This record gives sequence, structure tokens and C-alpha cells, in this order.
Amino acid sequence: MNCIFCKIINKEIPSKIVYEDDLVIAILDLSQATYGHTLVMPKKHYANIYEIDDDTLAHLIKIVKELAIKLKNKLHADGINILNNNDEAAGQTVMHYHIHILPRYKNDDLNINFTDHSKDTNLDDVLNKINS
Ligand code: 5GP
Ligand code: ZN
Repeated sequence: MNCIFCKIINKEIPSKIVYEDDLVIAILDLSQATYGHTLVMPKKHYANIYEIDDDTLAHLIKIVKELAIKLKNKLHADGINILNNNDEAAGQTVMHYHIHILPRYKNDDLNINFTDHSKDTNLDDVLNKINS
């Protein structure tokens, strides 16, 4: 399979490894969207959150928590965003499941905007669709 993250996991491509165990690996994201931007991923290839098995995901999210605390402390971050993109429409560019840990700093230039659409959205319609 021509997957860049599988190649990183198999050490065919170098990376800066933040953490590694039998099931998961965490590496520094090349882009460094914020200082210390880290990716946590399963060693086994799953494309996205729909596919990853529950036990692996449970372990992975524990590691995300540990690393979030570690990065916040060691890099003196003011906050942390945890982000996971699934499918192209959501901004996923590498189709090997991964969670971004983005340390945040006062006055950094990362832009995550939630536009308020509450005025044109009927919440009951949304709920009915989800639960029908
Ligand atoms: P996505 O857009 O799929 O959620 O995130 C993919 C991330 O992988 C991007 O932030 C991108 O910078 C990072 N990335 C892509 N190729 C490489 C690589 O070869 N090495 C590392 N360390 N990060 C990569
Ligand atoms: Zn892969």
C-alpha cells in the first residue's frame, strides 16, 4: 500500500518520533502549524475513524491525553486543540487515521473558526434526522 504514514511507521521514511509503543506512534507533523504540532496514529493501517477498531482507538486516545499534557507542560503551551479530519471534505489529506495535537499559544496564527449558523438551523430538524 502506498501510504506515507505506513512508510514512516515501517521506518522507510524518517520522522521525528515523539512516542512509540506496540500499537501507536506519535510524530512531529512536518507542517508545524503550531510549535510542537504532533500526529498520533495507529501502527496498523486504518483509513479513518469509521474503520479503526475500538480497542486500538481507546488506547490511542489515552496516549493523546498523555501527550497533550506532556506537550502543554514541556512546551509551555497556553492551550491544546485535538483535531481529527475524516474524508477529503473534512480536510483529510493522508488516508491513514491520525489525531492532530496542536499546542496553542497566545497570539499564535492558527485559525479555527466556528461560524454561527444558529439563526438558519432548526435544531429539532437536526435531531430528528440524526435519530430517525
Ligand atoms: P490531514 O490533513 O490528513 O488531517 O493531516 C495530514 C498531516 O500530515 C498534515 O498536517 C501534514 O503536514 C502531515 N504530513 C504529510 N506528510 C508528512 C510526512 O511525510 N511527515 C510528517 N511528519 N508529516 C506529514
Ligand atoms: Zn497507512
